[in-house]
Amino acid sequence: KAKEHGRNCYQFYTSAMHDHAQARRQLEGALHKALSNQELTVVYQPIISLDGKQIGCEALLRWHNEALGEVPPGRFIPICEELGLIITIGEWVLYQACSQAKAWCNRFQHPLFITVNVSSIQFQRADMAKVIARVLRETGLDSRCLTVEITETVLADNAQNILQQLLTLREMGVELAIDDFGTGYSSLSYLKRFPLSKLKIDRAFIRDLPDDQEDRALVKAIISMAGNLNLKVVAEGVETQSQLEFLQTLQCDYSQGYLHSKPLSASAFQEWFVTRVK
Ligand code: C2E
Ligand code: MG
Ligand code: MG
Ligand code: MG
Repeated sequence: KAKEHGRNCYQFYTSAMHDHAQARRQLEGALHKALSNQELTVVYQPIISLDGKQIGCEALLRWHNEALGEVPPGRFIPICEELGLIITIGEWVLYQACSQAKAWCNRFQHPLFITVNVSSIQFQRADMAKVIARVLRETGLDSRCLTVEITETVLADNAQNILQQLLTLREMGVELAIDDFGTGYSSLSYLKRFPLSKLKIDRAFIRDLPDDQEDRALVKAIISMAGNLNLKVVAEGVETQSQLEFLQTLQCDYSQGYLHSKPLSASAFQEWFVTRVK
């Protein structure tokens, strides 16, 4: 009986695994062609300083495939990383974002910063700082307008080479932000070892503000620590006015979230920006 049961389980899992593997192969096949088929776009989500004076945006990748529909980044970016496609795609995002930001800086006569997510896989290649320098040169964007967002995984990688690349970027004037702060497992010692300029508090800590007492305490502690370390703080996932007001009382530097706007197409961001700075 157990054997029979076991075999049924085995059959059940193999067919589920088969479906999974097939779905995965379909995704991989489509991803390989996504860039050349022009299925990728970049959207821009506003980031605003709490005093309202500084405005920036985060470049976020979108993939629309005819057969698969809109595939969320949380689904396809890890696969791009595994397949190494993130190297080409990541560089394309960087180029799009920097040339768009340059065009906006020319048009608006109002400073604007842009932040771009760079994967740890991209930093594993020795010349990432050079790639960024070249994109800045080619697009003409002022390096001080660019913030590179990295996750703790980049910093957990102990390679001397990564530290060197980050130092080079800082020397160029590029700012470095640590993304999804508080969700990784690495020690806090990297905050002093690496030349960071901003810290983005993960939205998991923002969601239940201002009611949740523990989140209140954590966010308060993070902002105070960041201030002492000379790091600017961005709160991610701000959705309500009361969250924003709470962050204001703590002197958080920037906020980003659906309260201001969802990520927007380039033309929609431009409209948003124009009404915002008027
Ligand atoms: P992330 O870098 O932490 O980006 C913020 C994510 O939070 C975005 O999800 C954004 O749409 C979402 N978000 C912003 N405000 C709110 C809010 O108020 N409420 C809620 N519920 N969500 C909000 P998205 O665009 O789906 O991207 C997910 C993740 O995919 C990003 O997280 C980032 O890790 C990765 N990603 C996106 N674009 C790129 C890229 O060009 N390169 C790399 N390496 N990763 C990217
Ligand atoms: Mg990010
Ligand atoms: Mg984040
Ligand atoms: Mg994230």
